[in-house]
Amino acid sequence: MTVIHDLTRRLQRKNDSKIVLLVADGLGGLPLEPGGKTELETASTPNLDALAQRASLGLSTPVLPGIAPGSGPGHLGLFGYDPLEYEIGRGVLEALGIDFDLGPNDVAVRGNFCTIDGDGNITDRRAGRIGNDVGKPLCEKLDQIEIPGVEVFVRHVKEYRLVVVFRGEGLGGNVDDTDPQRTGVPPLAPNPRDEASKRTAEICAEFVEKAREVLKDDAPANLLTMRGIAKRPDIPTFEEVYGTKPAAIAVYPMYRGLARLVGMDVLDAGTTPDDQLSRLEAAWNDYDFFFLHYKYTDSSGEDGNFDLKVQKTEEVDGMIPRINALDPTVVVVTGDHSTPAKQKAHSWHPVPTMIAADTCRFDGSTHFGENACQVGGLGQFEAKYLMLQALAHAGRLEKFGA
Ligand code: ZN
Repeated sequence: MTVIHDLTRRLQRKNDSKIVLLVADGLGGLPLEPGGKTELETASTPNLDALAQRASLGLSTPVLPGIAPGSGPGHLGLFGYDPLEYEIGRGVLEALGIDFDLGPNDVAVRGNFCTIDGDGNITDRRAGRIGNDVGKPLCEKLDQIEIPGVEVFVRHVKEYRLVVVFRGEGLGGNVDDTDPQRTGVPPLAPNPRDEASKRTAEICAEFVEKAREVLKDDAPANLLTMRGIAKRPDIPTFEEVYGTKPAAIAVYPMYRGLARLVGMDVLDAGTTPDDQLSRLEAAWNDYDFFFLHYKYTDSSGEDGNFDLKVQKTEEVDGMIPRINALDPTVVVVTGDHSTPAKQKAHSWHPVPTMIAADTCRFDGSTHFGENACQVGGLGQFEAKYLMLQALAHAGRLEKFGA
């Protein structure tokens, strides 16, 4: 929480160290059978294992024990921001996910096209799951809607999903969803939950009324519902709280968005791990903190594909030599949460983590895996404290107190 950043602001020290944070999304796993090996333990990871021999290992808890987090809170924790203090609304996450550059005066809304009948009752909450070919032009039509006093942006996400952003001074972000979560009833009115959000709620209502007119001949997508109406959290920047100059090298928009949220420079990452590593090499002299994100350990886990997750973990392993060749002061390898193939979902299990640096107390680990992490020198800790340790190993924190 803010206590962390009160400390890092006071104690931060500049030097020419370099920190690499490699996040394999959903890295933690489970054995398919009791007593078996996890995905990470099954994978052949000679480079991660070699790194483990000059590292401290441990398990990080993304939010709280027993809480399975989304990737948003998972990453905020890794970046040292208490995910319970800085909540990211669904609309914000959706906007970040399409690379929309959200400003401090923006309210973001996740929209769903829906179908209404002649009485205004919803008959399909997903508008028959229209394809991109239908959804995209409809968003372009909605983008023409004007509301006095605010700027309106409508962007297509995928199929029946869209993002609406209202930009204007003094708009609150606490408005209830208009999706009634069932059919046979009209959409709900957008209800403000505080005084500051009254105007926002009026704008939402006005937008929906104009959309009803614009879309009246576009069944099955003849209206939209609004969910996750929110502003981006007011987050101090990475550079300010830690005194490092951070760069993000992530292929997927949502992770670039999360990095942008904490003030990282978001670099062109190409599409493959090789592209990312080339970018890392090219930018090496311009930054002192690098966040690299690898997605496929999570997506293979969500698909329940144990073997594919093993294979993708091996791809992460293959990234290590080029990182090592740059001679970083500190290398952190971790995940934002666990995604065991066995569960086909994000889980609450603490995440295998290692910090490799010359200042490590080596814990005798010869392999990077859940079991080794369980008995590793870092113990079990909350992910929000990871940055403190990375900074310490980089010599970037002064002594606390006399
Ligand atoms: Zn994730």
